[in-house]
Amino acid sequence: MSGEELLASVAAEVVICTLCPLSKSRKKAVPGEGDPETRVMLIGEAPGSSEDLQGRPFVGAAGKFLETLLAGIGLSRDEVFICNVVKCRPPGNRSPRPLEVQTCTPYLERQIEIIKPKLLVTLGSCSTAYIFSRAYLPFTGITAVRGKIGRVILHDVSMTIFPTFHPAAALYSAKYREQITADFKLLKEELDTRGTA
Ligand code: URA
Repeated sequence: MSGEELLASVAAEVVICTLCPLSKSRKKAVPGEGDPETRVMLIGEAPGSSEDLQGRPFVGAAGKFLETLLAGIGLSRDEVFICNVVKCRPPGNRSPRPLEVQTCTPYLERQIEIIKPKLLVTLGSCSTAYIFSRAYLPFTGITAVRGKIGRVILHDVSMTIFPTFHPAAALYSAKYREQITADFKLLKEELDTRGTA
């Protein structure tokens, strides 16, 4: 099976998943989308209300900002793969609970294994904490690690990890907006110099 077919089979399971209580309150599950052959995967936290309505990741206000950040480094959303740690919206946009993360992340793991991205961009503390724990790296908070390039081995593949703030943070704080924009500049340098994308 091709990467596209394998990702489609993960998505087909996600949209009918009932493994955790979030399946009861969701409108649509949000498996993730993008180029199966990409070298860049972006991982957010969980769908918000717009994503829950459309079944697509990062289509609300934070998504618009993410698209601007991507355009700034010469990428469109079709050229990367965008997904979340948790595939269904937590009610009221609360943070996903540990059991929800534990139940849902086998889907994310399969997506990482299929795509084998060179570069994992973790958006915010939820996805950064998850990937750090998978790679046995100490996570000391998103402010401490954001904008710092790391290496992880996942599914026997060496990957670059680039944590940054969640784009939603930039919507309510000019300071976060500047910092995430600066992080994406660094990300572009990494892509240009090391060819991780
Ligand atoms: N926030 C996320 O973490 N993911 C989305 O898909 C949308 C908003």
